[in-house]
Amino acid sequence: MWRNANNAFFECNTNLKTQFKPRAAFNVYKDMQIQSVIEALEAIAPPYLQESYDNAGLIVGRPTTPLKGVLFCLDSTEAIVQEALDKGCNLIVAHHPIVFKGLKRFNENNYVERTVMAAIKANVAIYAIHTNLDNVHARGVNEKIAQKLGLIDTQLLAPKTGFEGAGAGLIGRLPTPMEEKQFLQWLKTALLAQCVRHTTLRHKPISLVAVCGGAGSFLLPKALEAQADAFVTADFKYHEFFDAENQLVIADVGHYESEQFTIELLYELIHEKFPTFALHCTDLNTNPVHYLL
Ligand SMILES: [Zn+2]
Repeated sequence: MWRNANNAFFECNTNLKTQFKPRAAFNVYKDMQIQSVIEALEAIAPPYLQESYDNAGLIVGRPTTPLKGVLFCLDSTEAIVQEALDKGCNLIVAHHPIVFKGLKRFNENNYVERTVMAAIKANVAIYAIHTNLDNVHARGVNEKIAQKLGLIDTQLLAPKTGFEGAGAGLIGRLPTPMEEKQFLQWLKTALLAQCVRHTTLRHKPISLVAVCGGAGSFLLPKALEAQADAFVTADFKYHEFFDAENQLVIADVGHYESEQFTIELLYELIHEKFPTFALHCTDLNTNPVHYLL
């Protein structure tokens, strides 16, 4: 369960949570190591699918450490490390890597250094599954968004050459076309978004929808080429909105908002493999962006 942008609690998956039996964990999974969770995740999203700028993988910790519990989140922060401790977890599985570039000093001068040091001091490992999870079609970040939006017949928006079932973004159809305003309202509801930044409406129904969790403006040419009616993503800059050229509606729902369901996805992926192990979704909303409405 986690707190969404509206500060309301949401269950990870009510049915799954009711089956959760923490006391059985030590008997059934006494040999579980951090590596066991990593292997299960990388069977879905292998590390070689990550982008060259990325730093997905085990960032803090030793793979052979015996596993006590797992905390799933979008961003690793000091508060998340504390939450892991409070929940008895010694592995954080985050979507975003806490470390992107080389750290030369550990002086606790910024949140990255403080989070890494807090994790090391507390013996909490941090693993990130980032663009490799973005780049898989089945069970990836974008399939989860497409499911939330109810899209059908999804296909990769930009297939990765030489990699079956891998690529960036997805495109799919709404079961029934929607009016543009109705669609934008649906985005707020389905993606728990407080606001949607969008381009000029074209007064045409929305049927074909492209999606990309997080910063997706690089996929606008692909969405245009595929003749999508709308492109749902985040982190569009002012000048990039002009590039829609009235050919589709860009709908920017916010970075955190577009990717928050990745937490639920990660929980499901590991729960399927280790159904009685101690797994927790964060209760914290790590979105650094706030809205005054
Ligand atoms: Zn992201």
